[in-house]
Amino acid sequence: MAQVELCGVRKKYGSVEAVKGIDLNIESGEFAVLVGPSGCGKSTTLRMVAGLEDISGGDIRIGGGSVARVSPSKREIAMVFQSYALYPHLTVAQNLGFSLKIRKIPKDEIATRVAKAAEMLRITDYLERKPANLSGGQRQRVAIGRAIVRDPKVFLFDEPLSNLDAALRVEMRLELARLHQSMDATMIYVTHDQVEAMTLADRIIVMNHGIIEQVGTPEQIFNEPASIFVAGFIGAPKMNLIPAKVAGQNGRSTQVQLASGQDVNLNSKHDCNGDLTLGIRPEHLKVAENGIPFKVSVSENLGSESILYGEIEGGQTIVAKADASLKIGAGAKIGLEMQPQYCHLFDASTRRVPGLL
Ligand code: ADP
Repeated sequence: MAQVELCGVRKKYGSVEAVKGIDLNIESGEFAVLVGPSGCGKSTTLRMVAGLEDISGGDIRIGGGSVARVSPSKREIAMVFQSYALYPHLTVAQNLGFSLKIRKIPKDEIATRVAKAAEMLRITDYLERKPANLSGGQRQRVAIGRAIVRDPKVFLFDEPLSNLDAALRVEMRLELARLHQSMDATMIYVTHDQVEAMTLADRIIVMNHGIIEQVGTPEQIFNEPASIFVAGFIGAPKMNLIPAKVAGQNGRSTQVQLASGQDVNLNSKHDCNGDLTLGIRPEHLKVAENGIPFKVSVSENLGSESILYGEIEGGQTIVAKADASLKIGAGAKIGLEMQPQYCHLFDASTRRVPGLL
């Protein structure tokens, strides 16, 4: 296992700047997840670490040494792709051992490493099968096993679970988490799925338009989003983002006025002025008699909770979560309290938390 450092890394495809000079330090043994919408530069970043793409600027170090001029096969990394990329004419055992055979590793050692990886991934019973006779989940296990037998310094995963159905994705997610715990290896994982990012990562790197929006633990990313983009990207249903401005301020509290007219008193001082965006997650809006009047237009009953879609007075669209036992249906008029401790403020022009660059 090894540390991976990206220093001012850039990638240009003609006039398109896919990665715009990112700095990132991934610790040895860390599970780092790059997450962001399609086209934000995640795969390009991973492929530059792998050496499958040249870098247009900056430097990448693995285990302390620059790999900018090191070929992919010499970087001691192993990459797992969404498409599995197994050899169809080889058995599972032969697929697992293939890269070791190419390196002329002795047969006994190949057999030992293949058996160990197969056991870790619970595919020992399938070693003599061909990939065509495996399920999608089993094929992905073989693809991961092929990476494990190489005992790389760093594992790279490019959307490895995207081809699996929902139930298998959950199962493989748990499997990957278990694998990381047992191996203590450095892993860099790319996904557009925020649930995978939240559940697998030691640290999440949120990317957008070729830059890093925020790096933090899943808790930090969820509880202290640094920008409107991160606030809206992580969490489902999405955080409510409401135009607002500062109406008053003293040493201990900030009075914010929503564009729809309501005042919200935040019991803390925020270093801000001018136009703002107030963010609050649907689960942090509390049904309260004296709250802001809210008219429900659609209510989705999810069993234990309901998702309420509607408008507060002044026409601002809001999504709230409520206990399903309250039986709040379409057309209901209720009050919603914006619990101040869960309100986030963003500068409307920088789109970041005031004071953060
Ligand atoms: P993500 O993995 O986040 O979906 P990518 O890293 O694949 O995003 O792509 C980032 C940007 O770079 C996109 O705008 C994409 O169209 C562009 N891009 C990626 N690969 C190439 C390429 N080989 N040639 C030209 N543009 C590319």
